[in-house]
Amino acid sequence: MLNKRFKTLAGLLCVILGAAILAVPVLSRGRYESAPVFSAMGHDDPVIIDPGHGGEDGGAVSPDGVYESDINLDVSLKLEQLMAFTGVRPVMTRSSRDIDYPDDADTIRKKKVYDQKTRVELINSLPGGVLISVHQNKYTDSGPSGAQVLFAATEGSGRLASVMESALAETIGTENVRSAKQISPDIFLMKNVSCPAVLIECGFLSNPGDRAMLVTDGYQLKLACGIVCGYLRFIAEGT
Ligand SMILES: [Zn+2]
Repeated sequence: MLNKRFKTLAGLLCVILGAAILAVPVLSRGRYESAPVFSAMGHDDPVIIDPGHGGEDGGAVSPDGVYESDINLDVSLKLEQLMAFTGVRPVMTRSSRDIDYPDDADTIRKKKVYDQKTRVELINSLPGGVLISVHQNKYTDSGPSGAQVLFAATEGSGRLASVMESALAETIGTENVRSAKQISPDIFLMKNVSCPAVLIECGFLSNPGDRAMLVTDGYQLKLACGIVCGYLRFIAEGT
């Protein structure tokens, strides 16, 4: 019964969320109010939203100087609001552009290591969690474009990636989504978390078309809607 309700809601969600975020003023940043129609779903496990990079680590940079870390945060903050709106409990690994480092992290490398370890500790301390890490891609030439879902080796990650890819294709267009694949084993965060986990490359900063879309609120919102739909389908099918 609960599953049926999840699936019905998940199917309608992209349309409803798109309209709701435009029409409902309650979705201001920092307010975690949820709409009763969604919050009645009764799912208490946290979704962990990880805006990749941040602080001293800007991540990839577009040819005209847009930092990946900033777009990651912008998309993630929208995602946080939408998750909360649907009654899901979001936990952010960072909520600002800056990161507080300890005094002994006196090099960029030490700062990155501290940051990644801190995120892993947080993620693994949340039972029942699902990790969604938000990133942007970059390539040596401007040709490649589109979003891609990469998944960890942990149980459930492949299925999460599959539903996420479908939901993104329905939201931002099939032509804008590449096939999901397992992530390289040398990505520290994804290698060390124990929950179902995906890393979503939302688009290529090296591609002029993608870059132009990725900095807009509208496209970021579409991405966030797709990711929420994917997550809701994942929990609906898995319980
Ligand atoms: Zn990245």
